[in-house]
Amino acid sequence: MSERSAFDTNVITLTRFVLEEGRKAKGTGELTTLLNSMCTAIKAISTAVRKAGIANLYGIAGSTNVTGDQVKKLDVLSNDLVINMIKSSFTSCVLVSEENEQAIIVEPDQRGKYIVCFDPLDGSSNIDCLASIGTIFAIYRKVTDDEPNQKDALQPGRNIVAAGYALYGSATMMVLSAGQGVNCFMLDPDGSEPYGGRYVGSMVADVHRTLVYGGIFLYPANVKSPKGKLRLLYECNPMAYIMEQAGGMATTGACNVLDIQPESIHQRVPVVLGSPDDVQEYISIFKKHAK
Ligand code: AMP
Ligand code: MN
Ligand code: MN
Repeated sequence: MSERSAFDTNVITLTRFVLEEGRKAKGTGELTTLLNSMCTAIKAISTAVRKAGIANLYGIAGSTNVTGDQVKKLDVLSNDLVINMIKSSFTSCVLVSEENEQAIIVEPDQRGKYIVCFDPLDGSSNIDCLASIGTIFAIYRKVTDDEPNQKDALQPGRNIVAAGYALYGSATMMVLSAGQGVNCFMLDPDGSEPYGGRYVGSMVADVHRTLVYGGIFLYPANVKSPKGKLRLLYECNPMAYIMEQAGGMATTGACNVLDIQPESIHQRVPVVLGSPDDVQEYISIFKKHAK
C-alpha cells in the first residue's frame, strides 16, 4: 500500500491504520473490511480522475440525476465503483448514493450490518475545468431488526460510526474519522517518497481547505435554495462529523447538523461549518435575525 499518514515520523499506511484501529476496537473486522473496500474504490476513482482526459471520460453521460445535476461519465463510473466495492465486501445492507433515486438494498447473500451514504463524485460540475473533485461517505449501523429498507438510512448524523472524504486535488488525500479524531492520508500512486501530510485538527475542496487552514465554510439557505443546496445524508452529515471530530462545528444556524432527524434520503439542509469561534459568531448573527 502506498498511502501516507498525517504522522511524519512513523509511516503508517491507511490500510495499516484502519487494521490497527479495528484491532483496538476488538470488532469482528466487518467495519475494517468496509473501510478498506471504500479505500480501494477511492483509489480506483482517483486513477480514473487522473486519466479522465486520455481515457475519454470527460463529458456528460446524457442524463440528470435525482437532485437535478447533469450526470458526467465520471459520476457513473465512480458510482459503479463504490457500489460494487461495498457490495462485494459483504459488510452493508443499505446504500444511499447521490446518483440513485432510491436506496440500494443489498442482496441477502451479500449483506452485512452497515449502512453507507455517499456522494461518489462531489463537485463533478467542475470536472471539465479540472477543478478539484471528491468522494464523501458516512457509515451507520443498522439499528432495527426489520428487513433492510430505505428508512434504515434516515438516522441523525450523531449515529455515524465512521465518515470520510477523498479529495482528488493536486494530489489525492483521504480524510477519515471513526470517532477518535481525524486522520489524513496522502495517496502516493507510485509508492515513491514518503509523504508527510500535516495533521489534522478536521464540501470537499472548500471543506478541506477549512479543515486545513481554519475559518468557515457556508452554504446557507437563500432565495434560490430556501433549504440550502447541500444534501444532509451524504454531504452535510459526513462533513459535520469530521469537523466535530477535528474540534470544529457544523450548524444550520438553528441547530447542530448532526442532531437533525432526516425525513428523506436526498433532503437538503443549510450548512455552516468550520472553526468554533467563526461558527459561533454565525449562530449569534443567525439568531439575531431569525424572527
Ligand atoms: P465490527 O465488528 O468490525 O463491525 O466493529 C464493531 C465496532 O467497533 C464498529 O462499529 C466500530 O465502532 C468499532 N470499530 C471496528 N473496526 C474499527 C476500525 N477499523 N476503526 C475504528 N473503529 C472500529
Ligand atoms: Mn456527486
Ligand atoms: Mn455533491
